Amino acid sequence: MFSRIPFDKVNWLISSFLIGTLFLALTAVPAYLWFFGIDWFQIGLFFAMFFGVGFSITLGYHRLFSHLTFQAHWTVRLLTLIFGAGAFENSVLLWSCEHRNHHKHVDHADDPYCIAKGLFHAHIGWLLFKLDPDPPFDNVADLQKDPLIMWQHRHIHLIAALVAFGFPTLLGFAWGGWSSALGAFLIAGVARIVILQHCTFCINSLCHYVGDRPYSSKCSARDWWLMAIVTLGEGYHNYHHEFQHDYRNGVKPWQIDPTKWLIWTLSKLGLARKLRRVPAEKIILTELAEAQRRLEAYLARTGLTDAASECLAGTHRRLQAIAQQWTLRQSQQLELTREMLATLRNEVRIVTRTLRRLGAHDPQVA
Ligand SMILES: [Zn+2]
Ligand SMILES: [Zn+2]
Repeated sequence: MFSRIPFDKVNWLISSFLIGTLFLALTAVPAYLWFFGIDWFQIGLFFAMFFGVGFSITLGYHRLFSHLTFQAHWTVRLLTLIFGAGAFENSVLLWSCEHRNHHKHVDHADDPYCIAKGLFHAHIGWLLFKLDPDPPFDNVADLQKDPLIMWQHRHIHLIAALVAFGFPTLLGFAWGGWSSALGAFLIAGVARIVILQHCTFCINSLCHYVGDRPYSSKCSARDWWLMAIVTLGEGYHNYHHEFQHDYRNGVKPWQIDPTKWLIWTLSKLGLARKLRRVPAEKIILTELAEAQRRLEAYLARTGLTDAASECLAGTHRRLQAIAQQWTLRQSQQLELTREMLATLRNEVRIVTRTLRRLGAHDPQVA
């Protein structure tokens, strides 16, 4: 088994950290719980660190710095830079550089966590075997002008160690002495790092592997509500790849997107502004185009041989009529009316449901 691992290509520093923390989480953490038990302080500290660092990655690293989907007060930027470092996912500069490359080259060779190279590679393999020198940072010139970002980049390992290990250990010691400090180090430090890292890694792996593609099947990114829970709202990844400059990932009222809710709350408190949103009509027309494309592919494959296909062909004709109406209104610079939007939504829903019933929707697994 081990003879197949290309040891000459292993990044030993990153691999030792990822495997070492996982080993401690699976051995030392249960041992601590066995000998010392757990109290509300340890549980509270674990969740405070999990959400503090987690939102710093989704809200800060991802939606604020990588995609510039809104503008934030300097206190929000500083806090997300400090606590984001505690995820041990490197500096914002490197993270954003790789993430922008992921969006630009998705599913192709230059995509750093390309799913076409396999689920393991997209999840963690790209980090274990990452021997390439750091990227030239040619796509993050805007971030390099920010003194706070450059300060974090220069001191990233020190800040990461202080936030991820030093801070909880100190709080633990203040709460209950050495045994509590050890518990905080292991639970809010080590175990939290491992769990949060794998939640983030899921965005690169499972969010490109399992789920639906209602907006575009041009790339592998998928929407899945379960991943949205695990990733604080980032699980609507098909939407995100289609509209990466929208501060929201879950745009439907029933979708779970805590990062969107937090950004919106910050805007109400005067700590965030210029939240970027894709207009509702553009979103629904994108869904319409994708439903139409899928419908046409299905009809071409099956032919009009049965009642279900006849029904679909009827829907297809209605969709075409609506699309023509929209093109006409666009040429006359008229906006979609509320009624037209409601009709569009309804038609898209009918097509998606019918295709799903016929087993002709996007397969669950790529
Ligand atoms: Zn992606
Ligand atoms: Zn992104």
